[in-house]
Order: sequence, then C-alpha cells, then structure tokens
Amino acid sequence: MQGGQAQCTSPPPPSERPFRLVLLGAPGVGKGTQAGFLSQRLGACHLSTGDIFRAAKSHGQEERSAAMSEALTYMSAGRLVPDATVLAVVRERDQCLNCPCGFLLDGFPRTVAQAEALEKLLDQEGHALTAVINYDLPIEEIVERLSGRRTCRGCGAVYHLVNRPPQKKDVCDHCGAALYQREDDQPQSIRVRMNAYQESTWPLIQFYRQRGLLTSILAHGAPAEVFQRTLAAFNGAAAAETQKHP
Ligand code: AMP
Repeated sequence: MQGGQAQCTSPPPPSERPFRLVLLGAPGVGKGTQAGFLSQRLGACHLSTGDIFRAAKSHGQEERSAAMSEALTYMSAGRLVPDATVLAVVRERDQCLNCPCGFLLDGFPRTVAQAEALEKLLDQEGHALTAVINYDLPIEEIVERLSGRRTCRGCGAVYHLVNRPPQKKDVCDHCGAALYQREDDQPQSIRVRMNAYQESTWPLIQFYRQRGLLTSILAHGAPAEVFQRTLAAFNGAAAAETQKHP
C-alpha cells in the first residue's frame, strides 16, 4: 500500500461480501490500531493517507513528485494537505478501491470535498461504502494520548510513554530501531491539527449521518476493548440488515 503500483498483500476475504469502510475520528483516537485489527479480521486492505505521506518523507527529495513535496510541507506544519493533492494520491491507488478484498480508509476522506470525490470514484466503479465508523473521544484524552505517542523509525510500530511503553526506552520491541516523536505530535502541531479537525472533518460526520452510513464508537479504554465494541456494532448492523433482507 506504499505506492500506486504496490501489490496487494491482504489475505483473501473470509466472507463473500467485501467490507468497504471509512474510519473517522480525530488524530490520536486510535483509528490506525483499530484499522490493523479490522484488516486482520475482515481481510480488507488498510489504506492510510498519513502513512503514505510519511513513507514518502523517507524517500530522497529527487524521488518525490512536486505534489508529494507540497504535501509534506503541509504535514510538517500539522496542516491538512490540499484536497487536490490528496485526491491525486488516492486516484493513483484506484486498484485498492476496486480490490475484491475490500478496503479500510484511515485518514481519508477528511473533508466533505474529499468525501464527495470518493463517492464519485466508487460510483464510477459500481461500488458503495458498507459503513463509516466514527471513533469518539474527549479532547483532553486525545491531547494526552498524542503527546505521549512514539513511533518506530524502522517498522512504524506505535507506542505510548505511559499506556504502551516499549520494553527498552526509545527502542522498538519488534525490530530494534529507534523510536521518535512524530513532528505533528509535538504540542504546537497537535493544537493546529485539532483545530483543522474541528473545522474540516466534523462536517463529514453530518455528511455520512445523512446517508445512513455512520456508526459511532466510544474509543475510550484499551485497544482490545474498543475493537470488541466495534465488532458488537457490526453485529448489530448485520442483524438489522438480515431483518430488512431475511
Ligand atoms: P494522520 O496519520 O492520518 O494523522 O495524517 C498525518 C498528516 O497527514 C495530517 O496531519 C495531514 O497533514 C496529512 N493528511 C493525511 N491524510 C490527509 C487527508 N485526507 N487530507 C488532508 N491531509 C491529510
């Protein structure tokens, strides 16, 4: 999922019906962790625009497109990347949107304009979203989670200084590489990111609620608890679907 031509590594879907999901929630609610669990359980590809931009950062300047360099400037300042740039990156990966295993979109769409563009792209391919999951958490808890977050330079594993510390300080348990604090997890960037979230992403919740696709999940507690809540919400939705179409 790192580049437009990347091969799909997802396992085959466990059911006939692929899941096409959007995960919403402010930075720090744990969307990435839940996406990992869901990807394993549902066999759907995890597509994170933030991960794509971070991967591009580790490439040399000469390997990056002009659009990608522009995106990185916005990201380093904790600001949202312009819609046209994000959409160009997503269009490069249109085979992911067509994947028979389904997909989990994490960090995209982040604005109503991006959501409308996604709807159009899926429409053209004859697909529709299965559901939109909105992870909810009080803002004080988000700031606390983000400022303690540390990420592995090698494999991208995510830790927390208090809630999920590595066995050895500043060293990844999985690959032994150094841990670092993401530039956009510094306190001054967090504030800018939260403002951007409130202004641009909140209307998305309304957008998907109007389409009857939205399911809200409380993201408080351990990741495994949140995952159980997510599965319970899915089971509820599946039961309602069966009642509608027995
Ligand atoms: P994330 O890992 O999803 O928190 O994304 C990290 C950063 O990448 C964000 O703070 C934005 O600067 C940028 N970004 C990722 N996805 C998008 C998007 N869909 N629209 C605009 N900016 C994005």
